[in-house]
Amino acid sequence: MTTSAELTDGFHLVVDALAANDVDTIYGIVGIPITDLARVAQASGMRYIGFRQETSAGNAAAAAGFLTGRPGVCLTTSGPGFLNGLPALANATTNCFPMIQLSGSSNRALVDLQRGDYQDLDQLNAARPFAKAAFRVDRVEDIGRGVARAIRAAVSGRPGGVYLDIPGAVLGQAIEAPAGAGSVWRVVDPAPRQLPAPEAVDRALEVLGQAHRPLIVLGKGAAYARADDQIREFVQASGIPFLPMSMAKGLLPDSHPQSVAAARSLAIARADAVLLVGARLNWLLGHGESPQWSADAKFLQIDIAASEFDSNQPIAAPLAGDIASVVSALRERLTARPVDVPQEWIDELARRRASNDAKMRDRLAENPHPMRFYNALAAIRSVLHANPDVYVVNEGANALDLARNVIDMELPRHRLDTGTWGVMGIGMGYAIAAAVETGKPVVAIEGDSAFGFSGMEVETICRYHLPVTVVILNNGGVYRGDEKPTGDRPAPTVLNAGARHELIAEAFGGKGYHVTTPEELRAALAAAVASNGPSVIDCALDPAAGVESGHLANLNPTSVATRVNAGA
Ligand code: ADP
Repeated sequence: MTTSAELTDGFHLVVDALAANDVDTIYGIVGIPITDLARVAQASGMRYIGFRQETSAGNAAAAAGFLTGRPGVCLTTSGPGFLNGLPALANATTNCFPMIQLSGSSNRALVDLQRGDYQDLDQLNAARPFAKAAFRVDRVEDIGRGVARAIRAAVSGRPGGVYLDIPGAVLGQAIEAPAGAGSVWRVVDPAPRQLPAPEAVDRALEVLGQAHRPLIVLGKGAAYARADDQIREFVQASGIPFLPMSMAKGLLPDSHPQSVAAARSLAIARADAVLLVGARLNWLLGHGESPQWSADAKFLQIDIAASEFDSNQPIAAPLAGDIASVVSALRERLTARPVDVPQEWIDELARRRASNDAKMRDRLAENPHPMRFYNALAAIRSVLHANPDVYVVNEGANALDLARNVIDMELPRHRLDTGTWGVMGIGMGYAIAAAVETGKPVVAIEGDSAFGFSGMEVETICRYHLPVTVVILNNGGVYRGDEKPTGDRPAPTVLNAGARHELIAEAFGGKGYHVTTPEELRAALAAAVASNGPSVIDCALDPAAGVESGHLANLNPTSVATRVNAGA
């Protein structure tokens, strides 16, 4: 190329385009053809967090998207690296988290004729079913446009995962610097407000006004929407009891008098008008079906994706729009159309809440040896109670189900868990993103099986000296660790009995603790959180603690033939 102007290239333009759109962090793993991209990003002042497996990097990007409201970016190599990122891309899309998987790819001419290039794969088409949108940039001058499209697609409307493919040849392509600078732009208002129709607002208030037992369900879409003040004002002004989905815990404090989290099944079974706020009526809510729900319950739904309405039950009052705008409109019209919540309904819920709270207190006060889930969680709860600004990451079966109920949240967007899919393996990626994006301490409460899916990222946590404490509730198995072997072969649910997971932290320069009593766990966790550094606490539980499939035993088919033939 003969030119008098300064040159730039694809690597620099990707970084410039991301920076122009406020991306300040990239999560990824380097390799052909994107190693220089990470270097250029870092040299420009961007934060680069290098992982040990791409799924965790992608999960970190997705969690960053949820926590910041801006797309988290995950960088992957061609072929297998790209494929490792896909589960996270799919999970981000499923959970409505804005995320961009930016991947290098092999030589297009060789891939398309299937000539056997290094790590060749038709990545764009492979990514499509798992992404909200998928794009490829084929010319260096289109990099700014491609990044703008990816940003817009990730955060506008219902957020999701976006795949952006950039072949290595395009990254390496040079272009005159002024032309390059002119090809990059900042997306204006990437997630525009969407106001509800006034008649939709009045219809909703009319349905709520006629109800005898109204209920508000807050979902993680409400947490994502950052409409904390508007939601609190509407909930309090209406007096309607509310139920948080797990990642909406803390949007209003779990200690709030209108929370009916501790009377969940009664609230669901008896409510006659249910306002869903950023929550889908999917399996997590029993699809809105009876007998879990009252057969004559009317559903109202606030969602930015109008196609969500009627996906499971008739929606008597659809409210299409962004949650902040819709809830503000509801609050404004509430004075003209007040909702009267009957005292009997409030009292009925309060009685159930008090009796369930008492049962929970008794369970937490037990002190069996070896330790079981509730006793360990009681210790964790007391430390977190004293540190309400800690971010909580939670995965496992029993470790998830029980921690969700035992650990109260007081602040919004401080709980990240297995989400819409109930997926295992998000733990370390989410924990790293929470620490990196907020700078606050993070406690990951993990089942020992769940931890195994992303456990190598403890090295990442130690390398960046992140304030992450991983508590492993170790009962030595998937669900539990006491299933009898068949001959000399371990049972399918059994893992290494007595494994000392804390040594993983020590291998990489972190602090390890092994605890066998609630007192030891409380002391170790308090010290670990106070240290502001990386720690792993292996918490030895009774291998017989836990139930198969946690709270989802109803979803788990078991072999009829095995039982019948055994005469059971
Ligand atoms: P949960 O699992 O907590 O019940 P879901 O992930 O099922 O929550 O539902 C979240 C819903 O929130 C999705 O249907 C999504 O379209 C919606 N949503 C996300 N962001 C917004 C927003 N800013 N305004 C309105 N709805 C939103």
